[in-house]
Amino acid sequence: MTDTPEVRESKNFIEQAVEADLASGRFEGVFTRFPPEPNGYLHIGHAKSICLNFGLAKTYGGTCNLRFDDTNPVKEDVEYVESIMEDIRWLGFEWDSLHYASDYFDQLYTWAEKLITEGHAYICDLSAEETREYRGSLTAPGRNSPHRDRSVEENLKLFRGMRDGEYPDGARTLRAKIDMASPNINMRDPVMYRILRATHHRTADKWCIYPTYDWTHGQSDSIEGISFSICTLEFENHRPLYNWYCEKLGIHNPRQIEFAKLKLSTLMMGKRHMLRMVKEGFVSGWDDPRMPTIRGYRRRGYTPESLRSFCADIGIAKFPGTIDVVRLENAVRDHLNEAASRRMAVLDPLKLTITNWPDGHVEMTEATNNPQDPSSGSRQLAFSGSMWIEQEDFREEAPRKFFRLKKGGAVRLRAGYIVDCHDVVKDADGKVVEVLCTYDPESKSGEDTSGRKVKGTIHWVDATHSKEVEVRLYDRLFTVEDPSVCEEGQTFVDHLNPDSLTVIKAHVEPELAEAPIGERVQFERLGYFIVDQDSTPNTRVFNRIVTLRDTWGKMEAKGKTE
Ligand code: ATP
Ligand code: MG
Repeated sequence: MTDTPEVRESKNFIEQAVEADLASGRFEGVFTRFPPEPNGYLHIGHAKSICLNFGLAKTYGGTCNLRFDDTNPVKEDVEYVESIMEDIRWLGFEWDSLHYASDYFDQLYTWAEKLITEGHAYICDLSAEETREYRGSLTAPGRNSPHRDRSVEENLKLFRGMRDGEYPDGARTLRAKIDMASPNINMRDPVMYRILRATHHRTADKWCIYPTYDWTHGQSDSIEGISFSICTLEFENHRPLYNWYCEKLGIHNPRQIEFAKLKLSTLMMGKRHMLRMVKEGFVSGWDDPRMPTIRGYRRRGYTPESLRSFCADIGIAKFPGTIDVVRLENAVRDHLNEAASRRMAVLDPLKLTITNWPDGHVEMTEATNNPQDPSSGSRQLAFSGSMWIEQEDFREEAPRKFFRLKKGGAVRLRAGYIVDCHDVVKDADGKVVEVLCTYDPESKSGEDTSGRKVKGTIHWVDATHSKEVEVRLYDRLFTVEDPSVCEEGQTFVDHLNPDSLTVIKAHVEPELAEAPIGERVQFERLGYFIVDQDSTPNTRVFNRIVTLRDTWGKMEAKGKTE
């Protein structure tokens, strides 16, 4: 290779394999595919595979196809086909061409007859259970099927009979004739076709036999001229079979390369588990903002950029491992820190009244939209002396290190004035319901001539101008590192976080009451939020995307005392 060492060092093992094969002339280019089975919604693990396959094609000037591996009519549906296409596009990728494994059913059938004719496949009458039993185990070799030595003529006749619907479901299979003693169980005469009367979402009732995944996948890659067939580690043991089929058929043989599935702490991504969460109502649907699906992240407010940069950042692993979900949360924090405008919102309001404010006076103050992005400009906020602040930003009595507002103390109201608290109003239970302050007219933000320095700055909204919105405070769905680890008698749902969603009313800057669905903002000092699709012209709904900082790490460090 001609690369400089620095450049090569940053290449992952797949890129290294790709470059070696291009250099040796084994392949002419990088042709990849993303091959989902349309039996569910895509999750963050699929995003990893999408970024990898589309990314490789882009890096090396090749192409990447989208192919639906639709060989199991029982579980598949057009609903999933459409959602998968939408999710890939939302992530920012476009396939070079679209295919369905079912488009190759005729070709696969022809190839199956070819293998039969050449003595490489036979019809087996063992039941599913007998087939399993004959297959042996990791420690015991398999036994030959009693039907293994049927003549080519008989095999062909029976195979055509299978196709023509002459036998009931499950009565016979077509199997490859390889080696029942192979240490690799996948090579012990694997099934190629099964009889199954089911309506396929594309081929309808044309077929009553369906090819298995292994008999379909490699040949589909081959037909499309794929050079690098990237898949996850559980297919490593299928690679010899993948190559065997291509070799016996004498067709283009792509190179299968395996990488470790993405596993993220605190998440459950398997389709089965996600389905259970949806079906049993632990979440509101596949796009619930707490779900690890692409549509869940999308609705939660994650940006495609943040998912892509997360996938790039974690790299490609050869061995299984768990990635800390904080890295994903940090990816969206980093992107929104650059991209989201700052706004003020008060989630847990406490009245603050400025007692020396001129009666009826309203003044405009100027607030920067995003200090990270000077081009984002600023906005004007009305200031009337009657404000909302957060409950937690005030304490009647507070330790010395409490730099927010306390009785007898001072604080700056962001983009406004310094205020001094001289008194409080309490209700019958002794709870503080209003904070009384004076303001320092010389201290206005941006034109401060007071010469005063205060340690704390807090956010606020103006009580006479603010609007009310609904805020959905989303948090992690599970409280533990690995929800799949359970004690006896428990299942992963026992690890659900009972506080993963809290719905509240909040006071916000007036403009936010009209913010368009999908708009993302930072509520200053609180976190990033997005306007949810449930918003109506009268009520805006905001989802919390993520808090400004990781609060889980802090809680764990403190033994969850706070
Ligand atoms: P699941 O059951 O979790 O939905 P799957 O492997 O059954 O996953 P497929 O539709 O078969 O889902 O996967 C499409 C592609 O995405 C495959 O190439 C698969 O290897 C890849 N993929 C699936 N899960 C992950 C993951 N967690 N990390 C990386 N790639 C993944
Ligand atoms: Mg699958």
